[in-house]
Amino acid sequence: MAQADSKKDLHADQDPNKINLGIGAYRDNDGKPWILPVVKKVKQNLLTDPTLNHEYLAIDGLRTFTDASAKMILGADSRAIKEKRFLGVQQISGTGAVLKKGATVYISDPTWGNHFQIFGDAGFTVKTYKYWNPATLYYCLKTADSGSIFVLHACAHNPTGVDPTQEQWKQIAAIIKEKNHFPFFDCAYQGFASGSLDKDAWAVRYFVDAGFEIFVAQSYSKNFGIYSERCGCLTVVTSTEQQAINVRSQLCRLNRASISNPPAYGARIVNAEDNLRTMANRIIKMREETVRHLTDLKTPGNWSHITSQIGMFSYTGLTVAQVKVIKEKFHVYMTDNGRISMAGLNENNVRRFAEAVDYVVR
Ligand code: PLP
Repeated sequence: MAQADSKKDLHADQDPNKINLGIGAYRDNDGKPWILPVVKKVKQNLLTDPTLNHEYLAIDGLRTFTDASAKMILGADSRAIKEKRFLGVQQISGTGAVLKKGATVYISDPTWGNHFQIFGDAGFTVKTYKYWNPATLYYCLKTADSGSIFVLHACAHNPTGVDPTQEQWKQIAAIIKEKNHFPFFDCAYQGFASGSLDKDAWAVRYFVDAGFEIFVAQSYSKNFGIYSERCGCLTVVTSTEQQAINVRSQLCRLNRASISNPPAYGARIVNAEDNLRTMANRIIKMREETVRHLTDLKTPGNWSHITSQIGMFSYTGLTVAQVKVIKEKFHVYMTDNGRISMAGLNENNVRRFAEAVDYVVR
């Protein structure tokens, strides 16, 4: 109620210099909402993609998105992913509603205020653990009833902004294991704590590597700045592939009853961003491979510009005459000014391309 009143006051306040420090959304240096350039780009692509329509998604959401979500939090080389001991189900962020009712859920004190409502409304007994003094946190973990659910902020704890150190996470994991508690990670800020998606996933990945089954509620509101698109994913790591199949089907049932069908737009944005990252990484790799092969062939000249240039294109520095020879003799096509699209190179043709360049510059 107090929060609603203060929001009303904020909107009613006509002072042009008012400062809103209550909002949990990113603002730029001018205090304006910021649409990430990548989101803008993806939106433009979505507008012109002839394969997109407004049909229902599957009940568990856009599979490419939920798989990308799992990869983002668990790591692309996660054993759980390789062994198919994971699943992802698209959510509208209110992920608390999907666990077994009747269990006791421990949330941190203090925490994001909505945790009380989410877990309370879903029929859990909600208790709190003291945060942040490691000694009292360990004490709470040790004295809680065995088999309780502990909601842990994966990174960038809200509201304290204090995360456990890696040593403290190890201690937390050890007690959770000893007490047979269940770790439920709330991950609303991946990338915000350290600037690195991987670093911010450290705790989650540590638990998975230590053999835990876990739930991770992932929100894309903040790290993609798509608050109103309600884009989230519940990623679950199980012990076996069969359990993952079973849990997916249970979560589908719950999704069907609570939201019927998840929204597509935010998932498409995040999914496409994953594609963008994949593309960017592949192009960088092809730049490196091109230079590696040219070095290997002892091709005359300095080719370091190929790796220092960024984006999709590269100016090779080849002359019009050389471009012509490459085309006629090697069937390699580029613009007359020697510009190549790095995206046209792949593991199978990069050596051939380097050999062609090597031939014409000698
Ligand atoms: N979890 C925590 C700790 C948060 O701070 C927030 C948002 O402030 C959320 C979850 C959920 O955000 P959303 O519902 O926009 O995904």
